[in-house]
Amino acid sequence: AQEVGGGDKEVVREYFNNSGFQRWKKIYGETDDVNRVQLDIRIGHAKTVENVIEMLAEEGSLEGVTVCDAGCGTGSLSIPLAKSGAVVSASDISAAMVAEAERQAKEELQKGGTDGSSVAPVMPKFEVKDLESLNGKYHTVVCLDVLIHYPQNKADAMIAHLASLAEKRLILSFAPKTLYYDLLKRVGELFPGPSKATRAYLHSEADVEKALQKVGWRIRKRGLVTTQFYFAKLVEAVPA
Ligand code: SAM
Repeated sequence: AQEVGGGDKEVVREYFNNSGFQRWKKIYGETDDVNRVQLDIRIGHAKTVENVIEMLAEEGSLEGVTVCDAGCGTGSLSIPLAKSGAVVSASDISAAMVAEAERQAKEELQKGGTDGSSVAPVMPKFEVKDLESLNGKYHTVVCLDVLIHYPQNKADAMIAHLASLAEKRLILSFAPKTLYYDLLKRVGELFPGPSKATRAYLHSEADVEKALQKVGWRIRKRGLVTTQFYFAKLVEAVPA
């Protein structure tokens, strides 16, 4: 009964291939047709991506480093990583997301310049795959803002699986379960907007840490990104 999959996953897949795709493509994009809340989330998410790139780069150059971006969305992380020379495997449960990520990667990476960097970007390898079916080994595995779609009992199995794919480090972001945010979420559930098609699950840092410890990993760095409507806890884990 603890197996990852089942109802939540099918609902999530359907959402991110349809209305969720439209909503998040806009939020993660650059166009002006976003409302105040969406703009705030765009800014918060961009900070998360920026923090992750900083966390990664602190440990040395990304050139040639294999990175698995599990649940890549529209490629917000995969594309800048490729620009830094990382060898990126990007996948997502949503075919619509993967197609958009691939389109943006071609647009941005094949235009020549690499934003002043001297490395030649390698086009990420894009795949439509849920993270439970991912295999192989990667120097680094990153999974941003995906756990929010799964309750903790499923998140545990996802974390264990992601750790099994990573050789050196695993970076996760999740919406932290604190009293304050728990309350906010409850208020949100009382007034569900039309765009909130999926449930949001919050996770306590202690639960995430426990799941990592169970498979022999420890947290080395922690970060927190908050704006008015976006909040993400970031953890970088390494083999203990
Ligand atoms: N990681 C991206 C980012 O930060 O820009 C996208 C975050 S978006 C909020 C969540 C993404 O997770 C969606 O693209 C969704 O399709 C994907 N997703 C949800 N469940 C998944 C699963 N089980 N396996 C792979 N991808 C999944």
